[in-house]
Amino acid sequence: MGKDREGKIPMLKKINESEDILWLSFPALVKFDFLHQGLILKNKQETLFTNKNNLKKDLEKSLKIIAENNGPAIYSEQVHKNKSAVLASVNDIKKWDFNSKYDAFITNQKCVFLTVRVADCLPIYLIEPDAKAIGLIHAGWRSTILRIVENTLEQMYSTFKADIDKMICVIGPGLGKGCFEISEELAILFPPDCQVIENGSKPRLDLAQVNFKQLVKSGLKTKNISIISECTHCNPELYYSFRRSANKNQRMVAFIGLKG
Ligand SMILES: [Zn+2]
Repeated sequence: MGKDREGKIPMLKKINESEDILWLSFPALVKFDFLHQGLILKNKQETLFTNKNNLKKDLEKSLKIIAENNGPAIYSEQVHKNKSAVLASVNDIKKWDFNSKYDAFITNQKCVFLTVRVADCLPIYLIEPDAKAIGLIHAGWRSTILRIVENTLEQMYSTFKADIDKMICVIGPGLGKGCFEISEELAILFPPDCQVIENGSKPRLDLAQVNFKQLVKSGLKTKNISIISECTHCNPELYYSFRRSANKNQRMVAFIGLKG
C-alpha cells in the first residue's frame, strides 16, 4: 500500500514540505480542486501546536504557508464525545468559541479551515462534492463508541442536504490494530470482527475498521471510503503517537477547507 503501481493501486498519501512544515495530502481528494486538505505531520519545530496559548497563531501561520491563504482556523477543546459543531454562516465563524467542546465540525463556508489535533486518534474527513459540504472528525475509541461519524453525517444531511450516495470519506492514519491493546472490558463494546484476538495476549482494536463499518451502516458506499492503514505508533519518522511519544502534548493537525 502507499505505492502507485502503474496507477492500479491509487497512492494513499503524498508527503509535502512547505518551508519547514511536513504535511501529507490525500490523493483520493485531490480531484476536488475546491478543497484544501491534509495532515500536518511530526515536525522539526517540536513545540509547534503544543502550547494552548499559541495554538491559534501556530495553526494560522502553518496553514497560511501550506494553503497560501489566510482563512481562520476553527478548533475546539477535544473531549472524546460525539458532538459536532455546525458552521453554516460567516457569523458562526466570527463568533466561534475556541473553548467550546466538540470533536467534529461541519461547514459549507469558504475560506475557513476545520482542524482537529491527533496523535493516535483517527482524523476522519468527509466531503459531499455537490452540496460543497465538508466535515472533519476526531475519533478516538470513546467517540467511536458514541458513533460520532453517524452523528456528523446526520448533521451534514439535515443542515446542508448532503447526499450520502455522493459522500466521500478518508480515514487518516492512527494507532493501528497491531498496537491498539485494549482491556477485556473494553473489547466487549466493539465488534469482534474489528479486533485481533490471540491466545495469551490482550485484545487489539482495529479502530479504523469500526468507523468504516459505521460509515457503511450510515449508507456510505464502500468505494467512496479510503483508509490510510498506517500506524502512528509504528512510523515514528512521520507521526506523533500519544502511546509512544515522551512529550504527551505533541499533536499532528488534520485540516480541511473550501477554497475561496
Ligand atoms: Zn503500530
